[in-house]
Amino acid sequence: MHELRKDPLLNRWVAILDYSLKPEDYARKMTRRAEEKASCVFCAGREAETPPEIAAIRANGTEPNTPGWAARVIPNPKPILHIEGDLDRRGVGMYDRMNSVGANEILIETPEHGLRAEDMGSEQVKKVFSLYKERMADLEKDARMRYIFICKNSGRGAGAMYSHSHSEITATPVIPKLLKEELDSAKHYYAYKERCIFCDIMTEEQRAGARVIADSGHFIAFCPYAPKFPFDFWVMPKRHSCAFQDMSGDELDDLSVLMTSLLKKLRGVLDEPAFHYVVHTAPNRIPRRDHWHTLGDDFHWHIEVTPRLVRSSGFEWGSDFYVLTTTPEDAAKYLKEA
Ligand SMILES: [Zn+2]
Ligand SMILES: [Zn+2]
Ligand SMILES: [Zn+2]
Repeated sequence: MHELRKDPLLNRWVAILDYSLKPEDYARKMTRRAEEKASCVFCAGREAETPPEIAAIRANGTEPNTPGWAARVIPNPKPILHIEGDLDRRGVGMYDRMNSVGANEILIETPEHGLRAEDMGSEQVKKVFSLYKERMADLEKDARMRYIFICKNSGRGAGAMYSHSHSEITATPVIPKLLKEELDSAKHYYAYKERCIFCDIMTEEQRAGARVIADSGHFIAFCPYAPKFPFDFWVMPKRHSCAFQDMSGDELDDLSVLMTSLLKKLRGVLDEPAFHYVVHTAPNRIPRRDHWHTLGDDFHWHIEVTPRLVRSSGFEWGSDFYVLTTTPEDAAKYLKEA
């Protein structure tokens, strides 16, 4: 079984895989091509070749693991985290380790190979987002799971494992470091100002205007003031809410149309870039209710989109101090006008 280890200096957990690769395996890994349509088991008609589905949106009267679905969720065929077992968290000398308990799921966003998220149409995107909600709600029932992380990798440059459009749903027994930092920072800001930092950021962005890409009614999309990478943008609900699952039906409709248009803009401006998006939402509150008592007030869910345009330099990689080659104001202007 794989194991999770904690860096005692940075309090960051990493997963150590049990099939430790040899040096020569890396060379082979680099040349491995994204699988083509012929070998893709995510395509319609090959349901029997994937692990049995966990959830799906499918036509009435169709059986699980047969054609007739619009979007389906399956366990990742190569999981890093496993749903069975105890956490077994313990010390090893000065270090902390635990079993790799958690869940790795793959959401197949469309039956059609080669159809990109921006071309699916907002009705299909809405199905994808509704399945995010459904899986989050279900995985949170397990008190061992501290965080449900949802992301999408599109394109080889973004580390996508499969060429068929998909998202990853990961339930972890610890809160990932970056999320923990956002949550703690939001909590401190709230303790000091009694206001949500994200609501304040949105008010400021609307006032300044220069970094706003789109205002869809329920959501705002803008380039953050001090992003990590050029053309990074955030999508945030105007209504204060800490959890993605609490999105209303109207908000879901609005978000599906907005994301479709934003991803189209991104492709238009940057010649079909590889990109990630991540959903930053509240952690699972069931295990530690006391710790998160102000969470409903201090955290505000959002989606962060990052096109993979540049590779980090040693300075950026080693210091977490990033150099931006396009200003967020210019990036917002290009995207807005696209
Ligand atoms: Zn496929
Ligand atoms: Zn807020
Ligand atoms: Zn965030």
